[in-house]
Amino acid sequence: MQKKETKYIFVVGGVISGVGKGITSSSLGLILKNRGLKVTSIKIDPYINVDAGTMNPIEHGEVFVLKDGNETDQDMGNYERFLEINLTRINYMTTGLVYKSVIEKERNLEYKGKCVQVVPHIPLEVIRRIKEAGKNADADVVMIEIGGTVGEYENILFLEAARMMKLEAPKDVAFIIVSYLPTPQNVGEMKTKPTQHAVRTLNASGIQPDILIARANVGLDKLRKEKIALFCNILADRIISAPDVSSIYDIPINFEKEKLSEKICDILDIDSKKVDMKAWKKWEAFAKHAHNGKEVVKIAMIGKYFETGDFVLSDSYLSVIEAIKYSSYAQNRKPILTWLNSSDFEKNPAKLKELKKYDGIIVPGGFGSRGVEGNLNAIKFARENKIPYFGLCYGMQMMVIEYARNVLGLKDANTKEVNPNSKNLVIDIMESQKEILKNNSYGGSMRLGEYKAILRDGTIAKSAYETKEVLERHRHRYEVNPAFVADLEAKGLVFSGRSPDGHLMEIAELPKNKHPFFLGTQFHPEFLARPLDPHPLFTAFIKACINKNK
Ligand code: GLN
Repeated sequence: MQKKETKYIFVVGGVISGVGKGITSSSLGLILKNRGLKVTSIKIDPYINVDAGTMNPIEHGEVFVLKDGNETDQDMGNYERFLEINLTRINYMTTGLVYKSVIEKERNLEYKGKCVQVVPHIPLEVIRRIKEAGKNADADVVMIEIGGTVGEYENILFLEAARMMKLEAPKDVAFIIVSYLPTPQNVGEMKTKPTQHAVRTLNASGIQPDILIARANVGLDKLRKEKIALFCNILADRIISAPDVSSIYDIPINFEKEKLSEKICDILDIDSKKVDMKAWKKWEAFAKHAHNGKEVVKIAMIGKYFETGDFVLSDSYLSVIEAIKYSSYAQNRKPILTWLNSSDFEKNPAKLKELKKYDGIIVPGGFGSRGVEGNLNAIKFARENKIPYFGLCYGMQMMVIEYARNVLGLKDANTKEVNPNSKNLVIDIMESQKEILKNNSYGGSMRLGEYKAILRDGTIAKSAYETKEVLERHRHRYEVNPAFVADLEAKGLVFSGRSPDGHLMEIAELPKNKHPFFLGTQFHPEFLARPLDPHPLFTAFIKACINKNK
């Protein structure tokens, strides 16, 4: 059978930022996938940064690392989780990246002496990338989320690319606007005017949306649906009500209640296959967990928390939170997360006792020296009081420092990141990073992406994974200093995962007879947790948390 043309669905946002374009795209992708279609996703971020790697998490939320090491936006994580796919660098672009590649091509004479212009050459490069992503994935449908809000200056060239694609193949391109309908408190009525303006502004870019997703705190009534239909020039049954939900995993289900996948297939002339009911039932059962959990599991997340600019705190640790949810749901528990400031544990040892209230403690990834001493105190408390502890990247490095200080007696043990003058740098800069930092080449230059680890027999890691070797995603510059490994092991710390050449320590743990769960990973396991396929280490941690009080 001849493969039909690839279809492209652009998702744009209206009225406010943070309206939920990423979750909308992921959910749409999922319901289309459940119709037997091969779906891939692209995220376009309109800023100048070439990737998300150099941005502070409070500016930008989580940096999601792809298997090829590309540092991207947190929405990429949503795509990977909802669609159970692995994306690569072709699935992510920014204004900076697009300009950079156009300029490089110009320098290489690839435009053959032509005058290279913002239009059409920038949109043409965008289109080239979109098509390549579709081709690489052999996709039936490519979801493309254009970041930002319609009407702003930054994303205009991406809208231009979308318009050009529609002109070239009208039947293969659809537009969805996710818009916001406020209900001002003193008016008490849902207002459609901002959405009308958003659609008009989109029209001014030559784009007419096929579908409007109406985000609001409550569902849309008939009156408003008809009003939007009339003023925005969209069929009433293609205006989809999307009220706030307590769990994002309900969104695909709500969309299907509105028959959204069928409507999209209609618009794009896709041979509408039947919904795969088996896969769908699995999703529904998973989504239900968010509302069930009578019994809870209480996790303390310790880090440096403060005001968060445009982003809420939980955004910075999105993948960790989701990973905890999946493993907890699979054990029929509802996770309750409490954010604790590491600096609280620095000068106030009495505060440490409060940690006993929790079933488990996580120190997630991070950078810099602020709050480190507080983390070390908390980790020591977890070790001595047998509270399950899971350290992710920086959390593993600190676990090793704590052990070196308090068990090996190396009082000034530290990481070079915090105190380069320490005599006992148990965490040191990787050899390969020294030159890089000398040249100030910070962007995209850490140890990034997927690397193999070999697991040691008889360890918690090995029995959790049930396999000999694993591939996990990394993002760090520092590592356990090999000079201290023998001493640390002699005093009982086990390096249960190592790089294939044995030089890099990937997992550290205490044996089960010494502590129920005291384990840290140099990599970020959270990036591989999937709703229907929870991560084995998170599951082992959650199980230890559940057993804590037994
Ligand atoms: N700051 C540490 C390093 O660069 C840990 C990084 C992280 O937690 N992602 O090695």
